[in-house]
Amino acid sequence: MTFVIPAPPVASVPVKGAPDGAAFPVHRIYCVGRNYVEHAIEMGHSGREAPFFFMKPADAILPAAEGSVATMRYPSLTRSLHHEVELVIAIGQGGRDIPAERALDHVWGYAVGLDMTRRDLQNDMKKQGRPWCIGKAFDEAAPIGPIVPAAQCAIGPDTEIELKVNGSVRQASTIGKLIWSVPEVIEHLSAAWALQPGDLIFTGTPEGVAAVGPGDTLSARIAGIGTLDVKIA
Ligand code: MN
Repeated sequence: MTFVIPAPPVASVPVKGAPDGAAFPVHRIYCVGRNYVEHAIEMGHSGREAPFFFMKPADAILPAAEGSVATMRYPSLTRSLHHEVELVIAIGQGGRDIPAERALDHVWGYAVGLDMTRRDLQNDMKKQGRPWCIGKAFDEAAPIGPIVPAAQCAIGPDTEIELKVNGSVRQASTIGKLIWSVPEVIEHLSAAWALQPGDLIFTGTPEGVAAVGPGDTLSARIAGIGTLDVKIA
């Protein structure tokens, strides 16, 4: 195949401990909305609705290599850049209509991610009944730490998920508080789209979302997976 302009590069995320430096290629980024009760409530909802999804472009990822700090440029147009710490699922085997009982067979690994949000723009769009893209799907909107192969992850209901800003805890919860669990998210998502190897799924954020600004340092952590450090420039 030849192209009339240079083909865009494949977005990719480093893999923890990959001896040859092999990376995980990104196909699509799916995100789950309001998947923790306390966060749904803080956003003005009941916390009891069916899961819903939105997307970010694959090249919205901002990967941080193991032990490094990623730099995120403060995005344009917003005065309210919010952090949302999330467990990210990396799909290794695609499929459609995947039942929850078989969902984990499709998971290649997990990572710590940040669903960065231009909250003021998202809220404007919500009010007008328009798409959220400008609030959610902008450049560098998806910082992500190294992907850890599933067999090396020790995650369960009590696994802690946490975000600190400049050393102070802003978000702290556990994976068990996800309204829709990892297998259930895969079941619902694969009913709507054919999942493909390389898909990433941001599973939703716990309560405590708030704004960050230039100079702030975000440190996200999921026990058993790792950390993600991001500096806002
Ligand atoms: Mn989110």
